[in-house]
Amino acid sequence: MKVLKGGTLIDGTGAGPVAGAAVVIREQLIEAITTRGDWPSEAEIIDVSGMTVLPGLIDCHDHLAMHGYDLARRWGIDEPQSTRALRTARVLQETLAAGYTAVRDAAGLDTGFKRAIEEGLTAGPRLVLSLNIVSPIGGIGDRVSPSGFSCCVPNDPLLPDGVVSSLADVRPVVRRIVRAGADVIKCATTGGASSRPGHGPRDGAFNLDEMQALTEEAHALDRRVMCHALGGRGLRVAIEAGVDSIEHGCYLDEEPELLDRMVERGIFFVPTFTVYEFHRKSALLHVRERAQHLQEHHAESLRRAFAAGVKIAAGTDAGGHGHPKNAMEIECLVKAGLTPLQALRAATGWAAECLGMERDVGTVEKGKLADLVVVAGDPLSDVRLLQDSAHIALVLKGGEIVVNRMATALR
Ligand SMILES: [Zn+2]
Repeated sequence: MKVLKGGTLIDGTGAGPVAGAAVVIREQLIEAITTRGDWPSEAEIIDVSGMTVLPGLIDCHDHLAMHGYDLARRWGIDEPQSTRALRTARVLQETLAAGYTAVRDAAGLDTGFKRAIEEGLTAGPRLVLSLNIVSPIGGIGDRVSPSGFSCCVPNDPLLPDGVVSSLADVRPVVRRIVRAGADVIKCATTGGASSRPGHGPRDGAFNLDEMQALTEEAHALDRRVMCHALGGRGLRVAIEAGVDSIEHGCYLDEEPELLDRMVERGIFFVPTFTVYEFHRKSALLHVRERAQHLQEHHAESLRRAFAAGVKIAAGTDAGGHGHPKNAMEIECLVKAGLTPLQALRAATGWAAECLGMERDVGTVEKGKLADLVVVAGDPLSDVRLLQDSAHIALVLKGGEIVVNRMATALR
């Protein structure tokens, strides 16, 4: 039994901070939260005075196995697969060490990494995997070179192809991805900032009947649907078809009636501001221009969605521009209009709900898994603390201390 004593607790439910709340941990679970000192005398006491205890952080949109947008990297021909796998393992370790105890991978990471973490071969967060992106011919999952050639590399059987050629093809593609171990179905109904010229943020992909088949099949297999959709017709199709989360959603402000549909249906909004910070500096003109154009709409979309009652979940969309600190998204959410407490909820309690993991993680409550981060200082006065490893004093995953910088953490 361990007791984290003397810290300020932010529990991830949206409630304000509680000073002097002790978290009592028995094996994997949180046994109690108390301000009375009523734990068994044999408990190991960890004094976290002057620090803040948070639920383990969650990134709902990452690409842990992606290490660049250039063609050779995306096609996996720039280095041996073993080198690439070890590079990815290091990202998994660093992500956990940064206080991220759960991550939803939005394509690229295969089930072998999840298994390796579960077997203790390497350290990493709890994973929710999508494997690949389901989209039609010409959609963002259909990888062709700028010269029009499709990829020369055979498909990785652990990352089944997500390209759908017709309505009849939708269900088999979903089933194959689930068969390969996907926990969630990732799809795309629009282009994006970084997609090929001609398939931009408001250009649609998929018709309503195809998206209805996709969501129906995914739900029949007990998988949620996370949908890349920035704006225009594709965004509307995704929401009408009943996806479970809208990823990016940059032009939601142009379709305010869709926000009510999202609230009614409990559709989450994962805006992924972080990736656009990098897209705005892209060397590619069309990417830079799209990212600059959507910037104001994106922040306005967040404010309107939040005001309408849509639940917001934090996700970075990291990978293409390397792996910046995942907590950059928390700072971006604050810049776009959430309070620090709301932004923390988007990266904890709401994020867990978005992933369907709220019974186990996301908040510091009795009976949940003891996934916790102890931060030296007060992240409510400066959320950027969460991006500085010198302030991440302790990380616990399932009650086990996986990072311990208590001796050196800045207080
Ligand atoms: Zn993504």
